[in-house]
Amino acid sequence: MAAPKRVVIVGGGISGLSAAFALVEQSEIREKPLHCTVVEGHTHFGGKIVTTHTNGLVVEGGPDSFLTSKTSAVDLCEKLGLSSQLIGTNRENSQTFTYSKGRLCEFPQGLISMVPTKLGPLFRSGVVSWPGIVRMGADLVIPARPETEGEETLAEFFSRRLGSEAFQRLLEPLVAGIYAGDANELSVAATFPQFVELERQHGSLIKGALAMQRARGLKRPGASARTLFTTLQGGVGDLVARLVERLSAVGVDCRQGENVRVVRLPLNVHRNPLYQVELASGEKLNAEAVVFATPAYVSAGLLRSFDHETAVVLDQIPYASTITISMAFAESDVHGQLRGFGFVVPRVENRSLIAATWSSRKWAGRAPAGQCLIRCYLGGRGREQLLERNDAELTNQVRQELKLMVGIHGRPLHVEVHRWPQAMPQYTCGHRERVQRIRQRLAQYPGLYVTGAAYDGIGIPDCIRDAGNTVQKLSAYLWAPAS
Ligand SMILES: Cc1cc2nc3c(=O)[nH]c(=O)nc-3n(C[C@H](O)[C@H](O)[C@H](O)COP(=O)(O)OP(=O)(O)OC[C@H]3O[C@@H](n4cnc5c(N)ncnc54)[C@H](O)[C@@H]3O)c2cc1C
Repeated sequence: MAAPKRVVIVGGGISGLSAAFALVEQSEIREKPLHCTVVEGHTHFGGKIVTTHTNGLVVEGGPDSFLTSKTSAVDLCEKLGLSSQLIGTNRENSQTFTYSKGRLCEFPQGLISMVPTKLGPLFRSGVVSWPGIVRMGADLVIPARPETEGEETLAEFFSRRLGSEAFQRLLEPLVAGIYAGDANELSVAATFPQFVELERQHGSLIKGALAMQRARGLKRPGASARTLFTTLQGGVGDLVARLVERLSAVGVDCRQGENVRVVRLPLNVHRNPLYQVELASGEKLNAEAVVFATPAYVSAGLLRSFDHETAVVLDQIPYASTITISMAFAESDVHGQLRGFGFVVPRVENRSLIAATWSSRKWAGRAPAGQCLIRCYLGGRGREQLLERNDAELTNQVRQELKLMVGIHGRPLHVEVHRWPQAMPQYTCGHRERVQRIRQRLAQYPGLYVTGAAYDGIGIPDCIRDAGNTVQKLSAYLWAPAS
């Protein structure tokens, strides 16, 4: 039997772990031996996924759920035997609010893929003024922008199609909130290519959204069984725990608390493609293939010694820093104040909060009876200085904002602050070219790959999909018929 191929995956976040899982699947399908090591620098696996359990509270320090419309995360849960633990958002009280000019307004119903398509709810919500609504209607007649005119930011694209008021008040808090980014920097083609496609195909976002709705209705009569977002009963951390358990059970060497210091290239990589992965402890791992599932700036540092140019491009992917603050209140202290699932705050409001989620109203089993769990999201591009404040200062600031915006006066029974410095990759203009350049340059090193949130989507399903695509290429290389 051939010697097992050795693969080192650097980074044990969802990208690295799901890459390892896909690689094991491939080795089993191809009946090829494999020796896979996942090296995670932190003392726990999961990267941005951190779920804690305290006195009956299920607190998500990072992501609290994932999209079901992109199926890779739900599919992975199925493979891991976690399907029965997937829970949807509660069906009642599912409205979202937005903080607008001193009050919370309900987001208009009738948003199809974020594009407003119904006049009545839009008017009733009061989020956009009458002239703003009229301007939105102009989307129906404004001609599509020729593709040759170059890349637009989210702000430019949506302001051009729907007007700046609709953009700032309705779309910015939804789209930029996902990236914790500045819509004046983020590329629409890299973050939401589906909107560029809608314009290209239908000449109008509203017409395109309505056509999509009709097509969906034709394809799937009856409501989908799953809500748009899902999570696991015990929190997203259960996905990480199950992955590590499965990987360890099939012999993957899952190491935590061990930082990779550098990856070295053999003298003649084409004749002898055996990489050396050096850990901070001094230990050296030899491998036929290495997958960098680390943030782009970390991958840059690890490969700079042999490819300065790729490192420079990786370093050009900027990151935003965020914070989540979860607070549990006695139900009696917030009773009547919490409506819907929470609210978002448009950047024009100049607040530190990006959004607040009433976690225990949105999901079942997040807080014990008589308590209410609230999760606040703050920071983001341009507001990084918030991370310099200590926990008490941050908590006070958020409590002040919740008092002002929602009327919550009570004292929290439990507080957890999770800081996320340099956590959210920003797909700014030029992102797609940068990613293409990185992948093209790495193609000169057989068996070397990057995957993760920095490249083709930052959501958990995107990361899992990208890890799977990377493993397809990796397996084809490792186990090419001639080898
Ligand atoms: C606050 C917050 C909320 C979010 N909410 C959602 C959400 O609700 N839904 C959703 O789908 N997505 C959400 N996201 C995005 C999503 O969680 C991330 O994009 C995704 O988890 C990133 O996974 P990753 O494996 O690519 O990177 P990471 O999770 O960053 O993993 C990279 C790993 O590499 C390790 N590492 C770094 N350097 C080294 C080294 N030298 N040696 C070894 N290991 C190293 C790190 O410790 C880390 O564990 C959120 C993100 C944040 C921060």
